[in-house]
Amino acid sequence: MTLPTEHTTVTYPSGAVESAGSVQDVRDLPGGARAVLLDVTAVHPVDAGWPDQGADRAMLETAAGRTYEVQDAVVAASDGTSLYLGADIPVKKGTEGWVFAVAHLLPAGAEVQEGEAVRIKVDPAYRAALSAGHTACHLASLALNRQLAGAWKKEVLPDAAGNPNFDALAIETSTIKEHGSTDVYRLGKSLRRKGFRPEVLLEDLPAVEAGINAILAEWTAAGADVRIECEGERLTDLRRWSVDLPEGTVSIPCGGTHAASLLETGGIQVTLTASEGDGAVTVVMDTICVSPAG
Ligand SMILES: [Zn+2]
Repeated sequence: MTLPTEHTTVTYPSGAVESAGSVQDVRDLPGGARAVLLDVTAVHPVDAGWPDQGADRAMLETAAGRTYEVQDAVVAASDGTSLYLGADIPVKKGTEGWVFAVAHLLPAGAEVQEGEAVRIKVDPAYRAALSAGHTACHLASLALNRQLAGAWKKEVLPDAAGNPNFDALAIETSTIKEHGSTDVYRLGKSLRRKGFRPEVLLEDLPAVEAGINAILAEWTAAGADVRIECEGERLTDLRRWSVDLPEGTVSIPCGGTHAASLLETGGIQVTLTASEGDGAVTVVMDTICVSPAG
């Protein structure tokens, strides 16, 4: 076992589904899987800090001709002494003095050697479905913010389109799925203190839903290209999701993968549901791509 000394170079932001790299580190995990760290990979790992988009499905092929399923992919981090995986990483991604890598989890006993050249092949259909779902998720949250812009009594942080950022202030969890997403929002006391009037959302949920869907129809009809702007090729480099909407360009920091064009979503629609519990109302926004490409 050796510790990684350089951040993994990741090629998925440009849409790559295949890569060639060399093995930096192999170690057996307590659960039985083998973690394999590569210098270069096309595999999108689940993020430790904001795990909205799950890992790619992929195969790893060794120079010796063995092929293994990548059962999961997580972020690994080293401080030069120890290696931490996923939720065990005690610092934020990009922290000075730490090296961040993609750990590919292979079945127990997988025969992979340090220094060996390997090839990665990502399942392109599953990747495309998650990418469309992630793009739909961003657009739906921007449309939700715009639809609720009049629900605020005080000024709050704006989103990338200049509307009060309900999504950022109320979100509990966000889960990217194939051709869609599920976002859970909590309308608690602290949100009301920030000036949000829950009744604007709750009194006529179907009307809010229809308003969001009208905005989404207008945005996707334009069929704009989606860009991923990268400051570098390393796992830790800042990347932004960027798209030209009819009212202007929006740009959001995001480490996930995305459709190349809004046309690939085949239209986006949301469904809102509200439920009560724990002294707060929870609103769930389910987002789907109506007729995705492929
Ligand atoms: Zn994102």
